[in-house]
Amino acid sequence: MTEHGLELVTRDHKQTDTVIAVSPSVAIGNRDVCIIAGPCAVESESQIVELAHVLRAAGATILRGGAFKPRTSPYTFPGLGTKGLTSLRRAGDETGLPVVTEVMDVGSVEEVEEHADILQIGSRNMQNYPLLRRVGQCVKPVLLKRGIAATLWEWLSSAEYIANGGNLEIILCERGIRGFDPATRNLFDVTAVPAVKRLTHLPVIADPSHGTGDRTLVPPMALAAVAAGADAVMVEVHTHPDNALSDGPQSIEPAVFEELVKRLRLVASAVGRSVLQATKPVHSP
Ligand code: PEP
Ligand code: MN
Repeated sequence: MTEHGLELVTRDHKQTDTVIAVSPSVAIGNRDVCIIAGPCAVESESQIVELAHVLRAAGATILRGGAFKPRTSPYTFPGLGTKGLTSLRRAGDETGLPVVTEVMDVGSVEEVEEHADILQIGSRNMQNYPLLRRVGQCVKPVLLKRGIAATLWEWLSSAEYIANGGNLEIILCERGIRGFDPATRNLFDVTAVPAVKRLTHLPVIADPSHGTGDRTLVPPMALAAVAAGADAVMVEVHTHPDNALSDGPQSIEPAVFEELVKRLRLVASAVGRSVLQATKPVHSP
């Protein structure tokens, strides 16, 4: 046991990097950097299916989209729930892209695990211990976001809860912490990427969309995250960001995403890596 009381998630326990197979053709944590993209929320089946095809063609390797949305205000769009899950699954199946979506409570874990390839625990739930224990029993990988005021050890302690339940397939996601300056939604902690990698063998990814809250800052911070060693970047993309039902200000348009992927390839190769490309055939609708 380390000084922080952790075992399974530390480099003391395991020195080699953990590689997590998300699907037969997609893994996170090896030399290839994954690109996770999609809307903040699934807004309709046609929206997510059409966008998934565009994103795949532009270079995305995993599709994201929230069905159960943790919203700061109870009066804003809470997500489509079950319908959002089935639509996301359909978009994933049509494009061959694995899908990640958030699970907010213990009672929804079974349903989300049935439809998703990766279960996301959002920043607000990073210390929801019953939820962490429950996803620890899942057979699918878990994407664990850093809480808005969590230290690296607190974040790793939450990962340890999941690992302790038997699920060692945990992907850590830096998504910005609460700073003092309202100029950006959050303070995107790029340092956390190599700093937490020094402590853990788990893959570490970065979400510059929530990290900055500003679509003009998403491309430079996505590039910075890959330069810093992130195993994947997760970005919010929307066809019409100004009309998005959630997180429009931080959503980039597909054309910006396409350009970003090209630049991510350059940065990845500059740091001795490459960007994973989707290989599974696309099934037509
Ligand atoms: C999200 O990714 O949709 C999300 C709500 O993120 P976070 O938990 O980081 O706010
Ligand atoms: Mn969002």
